Amino acid sequence: MSIKMLEKSNPASWLTELPPLGMDAKSITTDFRHYFSHTLGRDRHAKYANYMYEALALTLRDRLWERWKNTRYAYEADGGVRRAYYLSMEFLMGRALSNAMLNLGVNEPVNKALYEMGLSLEELAECENDAGLGNGGLGRLAACFMDSCATLRLPVVGYGIRYAYGMFRQRIENGYQVEEPDHWLRSGTVWDLERSEYTQRIKFGGRTEGYLKADGEMGWRWLDTSDVLAVPYDVPIPGYQNGTVNTLRLWSAAATDEFDFEDFNSGSYTEAVGSKNMAENITMVLYPNDSTESGKELRLRQQYFLASASLQDVIRQWVRVHGEDFSHFAAKNCFQLNDTHPTIGVAELMRILMDEHGLKWDDAWAITSKVMAYTNHTLLPEALERWPVWLFRKLLPRVLDIIYEINARFLAEVARRWPGDIDRQRRMSLIEEGYEQQVRMAYLAIVGSISVNGVAALHSDLLKQGLFRDFYELWPDKFNNKTNGVTQRRWLASCNPGLNKLITDTIGPGWVTELSELRKLIPHADNAKFRTKWRQIKHDNKVRLASLIEADCGVVFNTDALFDVQVKRIHEYKRQLLNILNVIHLYDRIKRGDTANWTPRCVLIGGKSAPGYYMAKVIIKLVNNVAKVINEDPTIGDKLKMAFLPNYRVTAMEIIAPGTDLSEQISTAGKEASGTGNMKFMMNGAVTIGTLDGANIEIREECGDDNFFLFGLTAQEVEARRSNYDPWAIIHGDADISRIMHLLESAHFNQFEQGIFDPIIHSLTSPNDPWLTIADLRAYIDAQARVDKAYRDQELWTRMSIMNTATSGKFSTDRTMLEYNSEIWKLKQLPEMPLT
Ligand SMILES: *Cc1c(COP(=O)(O)O)cnc(C)c1O
Repeated sequence: MSIKMLEKSNPASWLTELPPLGMDAKSITTDFRHYFSHTLGRDRHAKYANYMYEALALTLRDRLWERWKNTRYAYEADGGVRRAYYLSMEFLMGRALSNAMLNLGVNEPVNKALYEMGLSLEELAECENDAGLGNGGLGRLAACFMDSCATLRLPVVGYGIRYAYGMFRQRIENGYQVEEPDHWLRSGTVWDLERSEYTQRIKFGGRTEGYLKADGEMGWRWLDTSDVLAVPYDVPIPGYQNGTVNTLRLWSAAATDEFDFEDFNSGSYTEAVGSKNMAENITMVLYPNDSTESGKELRLRQQYFLASASLQDVIRQWVRVHGEDFSHFAAKNCFQLNDTHPTIGVAELMRILMDEHGLKWDDAWAITSKVMAYTNHTLLPEALERWPVWLFRKLLPRVLDIIYEINARFLAEVARRWPGDIDRQRRMSLIEEGYEQQVRMAYLAIVGSISVNGVAALHSDLLKQGLFRDFYELWPDKFNNKTNGVTQRRWLASCNPGLNKLITDTIGPGWVTELSELRKLIPHADNAKFRTKWRQIKHDNKVRLASLIEADCGVVFNTDALFDVQVKRIHEYKRQLLNILNVIHLYDRIKRGDTANWTPRCVLIGGKSAPGYYMAKVIIKLVNNVAKVINEDPTIGDKLKMAFLPNYRVTAMEIIAPGTDLSEQISTAGKEASGTGNMKFMMNGAVTIGTLDGANIEIREECGDDNFFLFGLTAQEVEARRSNYDPWAIIHGDADISRIMHLLESAHFNQFEQGIFDPIIHSLTSPNDPWLTIADLRAYIDAQARVDKAYRDQELWTRMSIMNTATSGKFSTDRTMLEYNSEIWKLKQLPEMPLT
């Protein structure tokens, strides 16, 4: 590597000690001008928002950097504090600028400085690309966790992958989704720091070879590998006005210096450079599948790359301070695995401890099984990762040997507990037998972890009863629940400045770090003046959302109508179809003149489909076709509007959630593990229409049945219903539903595109429809009628809205992180840093 230690120089100790940077408007202006003219080299001709944005970002970055250094020093004190590492294939961070401003506490001076320089913050902020390194809920959760850990002063490091291409950009062409690559790094990013000095080497391929160690024991070597380098880029994660800046370390793949030396020597220069591309391919692109495994070799490479680089990095730091003494390693370190994606780390840690540091199996296992903790994110069987054994053997032969050994020892334990129960051993084996043998990654995670958690109360219960039942019987104490949350800094304070101000003026600023304080708003729900202010802010936010929709969809939403929103990944279990069927029902009612006491409604649906998910893509087309028919029909007018918002992402949600009246959380009960979109909406004063699924159950517990529109089968009823489900009987027995289905079947929404919605009609009317959409349709239509009635009483509705925000305290990731910490990580919260 080309990084050189100093040898001849002897740097002065004061070299890295600098006076604190000013946080006032004057200092900010001075630095801004310096960056614009000197660092970026622009002059008076360069009236470009991008360079102005960059100058501001660099100004703020310096202030993050100095707090970052102090935080690192604090974590290093006394031989190093106990730390947790959050391993995740996805971090859906969104933009960093306004978050940095809020958390550094410089909103006021920055606004003042920009005003004096004649610049608009909003215009500059628009220049930043979203860091879209995630698919949806799972990746956004990781981002919210990082924010809360920094705010709580918990020594937690995030480890992930720096994909060159994040989540694809979605365009809509003739109603269909079109994917475009998201080359978010093309214009660079100022929000990370390359740290080549901590580069790691990752092995792939090759073969294993046994040998006799000096102590007479058998050792293993992994030879003839094709190595790839992992280069870390550190992203600063500022806590809320507390002087703490934590680290998210993202790995990028690079070819080794000596890559395919042989090819060079044999004259195959271009082939050699080609293999360099192969190495760097590993971190090229995020897999855009949400809640489904992809089973591709490159994906397994990415997973091992993340796990190996991160674990080697932690061990490197350990050895630097403690040498080869690992006796306290488990007391000082803890790894939280975000779903099964990084669980290969269980075997990888065993490999590093044994093969590279000479530990015996039992000692290595005593450490590994104490430091790993696993979070499950889904009950969908199609999402459970399994890797073919042949692929593992080809790519990671040494790691596979270790998995076999873990399995043999584990199955012996199962046999001791249930002697002779061969069927149970087969069920619990880490290796699934069959046409081709597969490694069950979730089982590897459970066997190797001290803790296994689900992400909402119902989900954690269903794991124990279903998917992981055998493991629960063996180790009941491993299983626990950690209900998800979102950070109120991004999802209320920053994205909803109007409500932020009203809340802070009313109950003080404590809620920003202690969300349960929002309860103090409850008495104000009965105050008519307060309700008027609340309604005005919601209206302003609807104006902002309506202009986004007009710009991106060309559809005009009337801001006095009910804004009814469903944004999330497009997936059959989330049942965007149920929503569309109700919209068709409303359209049908208008067409037949059933409009007495009508509540005008604007329906927004948004979300990306996995590029290979055929049904989800047809659903997007259906939304667009139904919207077109409705929006172009002058007899419908302002009574009903519908739009599909293209390219749903974090930055869009920051405008959507504040402007929403009704939050659609209508998954088939038992299928949505938790949901977090539901929490963002609740916090911003939207009322939920929802099933008893995931965290909806806990949301309803908090806000009360009066402030929630409940409908549909329970998870238990869903399972009971499957054996006697007859959608046709329901359709024929219900005049409204018959008419909806007739409109679909008569190609009313696809007059010139015959047959394109047949797959949807088939799945809705199949007795085997796993999502039981028609079973819940009547109850959903009735619940929507209750919504209409409630919305017509604006005082009542505003009260419900206030009550939702006021009771959303539980859904802060601050609460979630404190639970992980007190029950799993057991880290000390650090004292506040001097530089705040
Ligand atoms: C919050 C969020 C999600 C998760 O939404 P769910 O409704 O919980 O599925 C997905 N994508 C983005 C961009 C988000 O901000």
